[in-house]
Amino acid sequence: MNNRPLILKGNIVIKNVDEYIIGKIIKNKNVVNKEEYIQILDDENINLFEEGYKGYIFSNKPKNINLEKINYCSNVKYYQTLLDYDVVEIVNNRMIRVLYRDDSEDNAIVVTNQCNSNCIMCPDSDIVRNTKNNPAIKKLLEQVKCIPDDTKHITITGGEPGLLRENLLKLLEGCKKYLPNTEFLLLTNGRIFSNTNFTNRVKKSMPDNIRIAIPIYADNEKLHDEITCAKESFKQTIKGIKKLIEKNIDIEIRIVVLKKNYKYLEQIANFIVKEIPQVKIVNIMALEMTGNAYKNRKQVWVNFEKIKEYLYKSCITIIKAGIITNLYNFPLCNLDERLYSIAHKSITDYKIRYKKQCDECLAKESCGGFFNSTINMKDIEVKPIK
Ligand code: SF4
Repeated sequence: MNNRPLILKGNIVIKNVDEYIIGKIIKNKNVVNKEEYIQILDDENINLFEEGYKGYIFSNKPKNINLEKINYCSNVKYYQTLLDYDVVEIVNNRMIRVLYRDDSEDNAIVVTNQCNSNCIMCPDSDIVRNTKNNPAIKKLLEQVKCIPDDTKHITITGGEPGLLRENLLKLLEGCKKYLPNTEFLLLTNGRIFSNTNFTNRVKKSMPDNIRIAIPIYADNEKLHDEITCAKESFKQTIKGIKKLIEKNIDIEIRIVVLKKNYKYLEQIANFIVKEIPQVKIVNIMALEMTGNAYKNRKQVWVNFEKIKEYLYKSCITIIKAGIITNLYNFPLCNLDERLYSIAHKSITDYKIRYKKQCDECLAKESCGGFFNSTINMKDIEVKPIK
């Protein structure tokens, strides 16, 4: 089910010293290894109550259960939206936060909200990135241990995960140990990998099935650093990418298209083909207009129509070099139709929106639509495909 709430509120009582628990959800039934689970019991299933679970979510505060020694929540709005094997963090007196949705293939481990760059089109705001409430490594590892080991895909993201340094290595080791069947995508600005020693250690710690996705916004230092607002970032990122390639680590390049770089897309494509042709994938992405991107919208936003021609030429350059090329976050009717086959439904499910006219469109099923933050940009037009 899409659009499930990620934060739930109610009467929450957690008695640990840490004042939180992280566990897997199990609804109206019992399991063997209770200590890993948080049991949900509706009124009609309250007789299934057994001691030993990490915590409980009751539809109403039960009268015949001794609540003195257990972690529990009651009267939680929308608790029915939680599913078996979801992973949640329950924080005393505050909230239930959904960390992993078992019905989604789009789960992420968010390791920090801070970053050493400050890209003008970052979908996070300065306030978010300057608020230091990063999860402790202990919590991140608890989260990883709870994720079912048949999970297909997990994205590790931030902020900039590289800022975790030693703790990123610990997290990667945890992922390797507890989720050997999962494919990982690490989203990073890549600057940390210009450090040879760190890159060598990442190679040793990381799960076998991981790809590292790194953005390049220009083919030159001046424009890239102007977009990231971080001096030396271009040099460090390119050096980092080359070091990862030397270590045989799969690399995905991400190009975010904005007003400052859309005319140079073909140059960026040529740079990739010439300088780092070993990369496995290039994903070209449209903007998400939240945070810095919205604040800087005059410098950042460019209509899809203007991008079209440049986008086509750059894609062809990369495809001709034998590199897998994808388009993310572009609504189909705003693309050159020769690129339809490489356009993906890539927007996180709960952020997808369509215009009213999209209901008439024969391609709606295959079209990824718009971000909730982008759909209301003034100059967006849709042309339903018929
Ligand atoms: S009309 Fe709407 S559904 Fe159809 S391609 Fe355009 S954005 Fe997508």
